[in-house]
Amino acid sequence: MLLKIYQTGQPVLREKAKLLSNEVLLADHTQQLIDSMIETLRDVPGVGLAAPQVGQSLQIVIIEDKKKYHKQVPENVLDQQARKAVPLKVLVNPKLEVLESEESLYFEGCLSVEGYVGAVNRANKVRVDALGRDGKLISYIAEGWHARILQHEIGHLNGELYIDLLQPRSFMSVKNFTELWRSALQDKIRKSFTK
Ligand code: ZN
Repeated sequence: MLLKIYQTGQPVLREKAKLLSNEVLLADHTQQLIDSMIETLRDVPGVGLAAPQVGQSLQIVIIEDKKKYHKQVPENVLDQQARKAVPLKVLVNPKLEVLESEESLYFEGCLSVEGYVGAVNRANKVRVDALGRDGKLISYIAEGWHARILQHEIGHLNGELYIDLLQPRSFMSVKNFTELWRSALQDKIRKSFTK
């Protein structure tokens, strides 16, 4: 079932999402919610969705970055962003640890802030510990764009939106980003938007 994506201003996006017990996680209604979140994410399409974005204050995020989504991004930008395809991941009660203080500044958008993007500093390397949808432990290290998606999505579970973190002067419409900034590399983004 396709779910409505909540836009900024809805209080649920600013709440700390609730942890799931194994019993709640394995319950039919939660498993159905996860299926619907996957369907909704693929329909948009987007690379990540957190349960508060569909109005559920629960610690569930899903991530999927398909190769075909990269077609509109120039090759040298993809390389610099260390953006590679990420197969579908369902992460429940995730904990994030930053492994490297080094950060990159790139544009990101959010399905809950429709029509806009902004440049956000994010750590290049993180570790995530979570439960899968089957309740089993998942733990892995992610770098580059995958690390960025994790930081963005897990931020949602803490009531955080990327607009809290962006370089204010970089906030712009998707249209202007596409026309003017899509090919920009790190140096140019930093010079243009960091005070
Ligand atoms: Zn988002």
